Amino acid sequence: MATQLLQNYAAGRWQTGTGTGTPLLDPVLGTELVRVSNAGMDLKEAFAFAREQGGKALRALSYKQRAALLNDIVKVLSDNKAAYYDIATANSGTTTKDSAVDIDGGIFTIGTYAKLGEKLGDAQFLLDGERIRMGKDPLFQSQHILTPTHGVALFINAFNFPSWGLWEKAAPALLSGVPVIIKPATSTAWLTQRMVQDVVNANILPAGALSVICGSSAGLMDQLEPFDVVSFTGSADTARIIRSHPAVAHKSVRCNIEADSLNSALLDPAAAADSEAFNLLVSEVTREMTVKSGQKCTAIRRVFVPATLYEAVAEAISAKLKKTTVGNPRNEAVRMGSLVSKEQYDGVLAGIEVLKQEATVLFDGNSADLVDADKAVAACVAPVLLGTSTPATANILHEVEVFGPVCTLMAYKDIDEAHALIQRGEGSLVMSVYSDNPAFIAQTAAALGSHHGRIHAISPDVAALHTGHGNVMPVSLHGGPGRAGGGEELGGLRALNFYHRRTAVQASTAALDAMAATATKLEL
Ligand code: NAP
Repeated sequence: MATQLLQNYAAGRWQTGTGTGTPLLDPVLGTELVRVSNAGMDLKEAFAFAREQGGKALRALSYKQRAALLNDIVKVLSDNKAAYYDIATANSGTTTKDSAVDIDGGIFTIGTYAKLGEKLGDAQFLLDGERIRMGKDPLFQSQHILTPTHGVALFINAFNFPSWGLWEKAAPALLSGVPVIIKPATSTAWLTQRMVQDVVNANILPAGALSVICGSSAGLMDQLEPFDVVSFTGSADTARIIRSHPAVAHKSVRCNIEADSLNSALLDPAAAADSEAFNLLVSEVTREMTVKSGQKCTAIRRVFVPATLYEAVAEAISAKLKKTTVGNPRNEAVRMGSLVSKEQYDGVLAGIEVLKQEATVLFDGNSADLVDADKAVAACVAPVLLGTSTPATANILHEVEVFGPVCTLMAYKDIDEAHALIQRGEGSLVMSVYSDNPAFIAQTAAALGSHHGRIHAISPDVAALHTGHGNVMPVSLHGGPGRAGGGEELGGLRALNFYHRRTAVQASTAALDAMAATATKLEL
């Protein structure tokens, strides 16, 4: 018997796609869970409704009122959390701890924007910076303002964060007064669809403010108009299609891209074996490899250590990875669940073979049995640590992102070589640096900042406090230059920029005073 066909929500009503739809599977058991389809939907109507009705209603509210709506969303999602965990276990194959990164991470992010938004008060637009004199006489000045764009925000998301990936984008969009249409990645669309369903059924948002369209991406980009924005998260290949779509190329639709990234970890050359910095690196790399089975865009893919410590680090990471039990996330003995699909399983295994052209295997957990899962069915891949003592001659290792529990240890000769090798990632979301020397951390930030969206420094004094290399905190920037897509998300109120238009208003002091009286100054 066919499973349930999930409904789409668009143009203010629930809509069922035609046809049998695409099945969503349990990646551990191989069973079918639900189906998705948007075939036959009137996309033009969906976008026009969101743009016109949703946008107008949201813009009629103040930042503070929209922040209150975000708080209501937090309440509804928190009340329904148990169902989300069940869906994540079944559809993403994640352990409870890993599901929390996505589910609680998403809810936490909305809560953060609710708090930030409340401080913006009763205004409906923002002052950006100070007034600037344009001549000798101060009577005529320029003031930049930010007003919400009169369009819709289309989100095309990746499979690895069906909750957080929606809410980290939707929270700043809705706070800005911009309606959202979310198209989740098909393989894990269920959780996104269910969360939107709960928010819609709770009747929190104005009609048209939040829509979900599951299934094919065909035709979505064609609906975009000049004041719409599109935010894409996914592979570099799809990113190229989005960037070259006529909506972006000809209509200047604003476009944010979060693509793949070869994030690094760097150990201070002055670190000794078994020092605190050394041990912190070993723990963090192990954690990053195994959280969500390494399916995090921010996960550490390349680890740079002084050549003298290469073997000691390899041994220490391998010893920790050995303890990682892999299998059915429903079994409490399991530390790491599965990848999201058999396609990803095949892709990760193939990727490991590609990396092996330039690296040796330092640890491979795949000879161990799975816990409570059948190797022939489950999309489970155990951690694999690769290594090279000659990273300067490698190419593939600095180019190929394997989206699973896989990472490569690399020996560097001196700090200049380490910097050059890190930069061969051609722009990353995040790097972490492990050192007990504040001056070394500061030098690293200055030298490698241009290549990263975030630099996460782990020193012994913050060992118990730091938020984790791979965890994206809403107050910090997420996104990276170059191959990471060149996008920017979050960063507290900086995120509002994407959903607002900046305008220079050149006017008399009296007119600027009148304008300022109804606006809030944006304090980042
Ligand atoms: P993907 O294949 O590029 O898919 C991403 C999204 O694009 C999905 O919703 C997909 O829909 C849609 N899509 C596919 N073809 C499209 C087209 N021609 N036009 C418009 N949309 C299209 O990527 P993925 O395999 O899901 O994600 C894994 C990648 O995402 C990794 O490389 C990872 O590094 C990256 N990632 C980056 C971040 C970040 O924040 N930087 C976060 C997470 C993941 P269907 O699912 O229906 O095909």
